[in-house]
Amino acid sequence: MQRILSEKAYNEACNYIPGGVNSPVRALRSVGEAPLFIAKADGTTLTDVDGNQFTDFCLSWGVFILGHNHPQVRQAVNKAIELGTSYGIPTLQETQLAKLVVEAVPSVEKVRFVSSGTEAVMSAIRVARGFTKRNIIVKFDGNYHGHADHLLVSAGSGVAQLSGSSSSGVPADFTKYTLSLPYNNVEAVKVLFEKQGNEIAAVILEPVAANMGVVIPTDEFLKTLREITTKYGALLIFDEVITGFRLGLSGAQGRFGITPDLSAFGKIIGGGFPAAAFGGRADIMDLLAPLGPVYQAGTLSGNPVAMASGIQTISLLSEPDFYTNLEVKSNVFVAELKDIIKRKDIVLNHIGSMFTLFFSDDEIRNFDDVKRSDTDRFAKFFRELLKENIYISPSAFEASFISAGHTNEQLEKVLRTIKKVINKI
Ligand SMILES: *Cc1c(COP(=O)(O)O)cnc(C)c1O
Repeated sequence: MQRILSEKAYNEACNYIPGGVNSPVRALRSVGEAPLFIAKADGTTLTDVDGNQFTDFCLSWGVFILGHNHPQVRQAVNKAIELGTSYGIPTLQETQLAKLVVEAVPSVEKVRFVSSGTEAVMSAIRVARGFTKRNIIVKFDGNYHGHADHLLVSAGSGVAQLSGSSSSGVPADFTKYTLSLPYNNVEAVKVLFEKQGNEIAAVILEPVAANMGVVIPTDEFLKTLREITTKYGALLIFDEVITGFRLGLSGAQGRFGITPDLSAFGKIIGGGFPAAAFGGRADIMDLLAPLGPVYQAGTLSGNPVAMASGIQTISLLSEPDFYTNLEVKSNVFVAELKDIIKRKDIVLNHIGSMFTLFFSDDEIRNFDDVKRSDTDRFAKFFRELLKENIYISPSAFEASFISAGHTNEQLEKVLRTIKKVINKI
């Protein structure tokens, strides 16, 4: 496969953009590749600047549950653009999308739109602190909640500890109220709450972890978090930036039957445009300015083009059987994939239409398990698939996605290729 123009584009980009990319994983360093430069995408096919085509299982990190460039979404967006692209003044479309979100997600009584998942989580945490008048936020190792200073924390496993940031440029004091615990560890949560429960503003988590690869929560874990936060007057925040509108219209919370106080959404909700949202109980959300003392704002928040894209996307997802069909297709794929990896020291974690292959011989339940997996073997796997024109998420610690756009024939073909590649590496 020739990738001459991608290489040229990369070299050029590096002159002007740090590392040539606007978000680090795109550089493909962890899988020992140079980045692809994409010219266009349609359905499940990416076309790079050299004209190579790839079947996409990253789908802009889970955004395109309908496939790229869905004709109806494109049409809605084109129509919106005709009317101007931003006003900084309210529109009917904002209420329309807000209503769709409130109807889809029972825990959300009020919602506010922002432009990125990072912003959504950051704002949810601010309002949680404003509501509880407490400072401490509890998160979990390996869960990603965007790149706000106080959330870039990776704690050592085992004991709760005040931990430093995983990024340079973040003063230690900025993370002193962020505690990180091992995912799926009920005991660690209980111990921490016994000690400091009355100082904890909120517990935030990915209700299915996706940013360390797919890691499924145990029922006990989610149930404990709901009970213990309620007991101590702390809030429970679900970061559903990936799982929202992915695991069903009501996200992971609907699937597991747990009602968080606040939720963050992103990715799918903008249908490919920079829109995200946070929402939850009205008594908490009404603390936001202009009603209350918690400040939060955004020049392009609720942007009319992004709203049009989101409205059309969620409307299509609301059609009867959308998720059932996607799930059936995903289950067939995953069952065959499971068969292929048998006795190959590979673990497949999956739920609904999201999955990760871990090159490990042991169960993957938390970040420590994830870190024990063989990232070199994953990198090789990624590179071999790329040679075969298949683009999965380019990190051992990310989720890949199946979309409504993938056809059964396409998936069958991909499975045959994966089988060939796995036997080779
Ligand atoms: C992608 C993601 C974010 C950050 O969203 P951005 O739009 O990249 O800022 C936050 N939380 C989770 C769970 C995510 O997957």
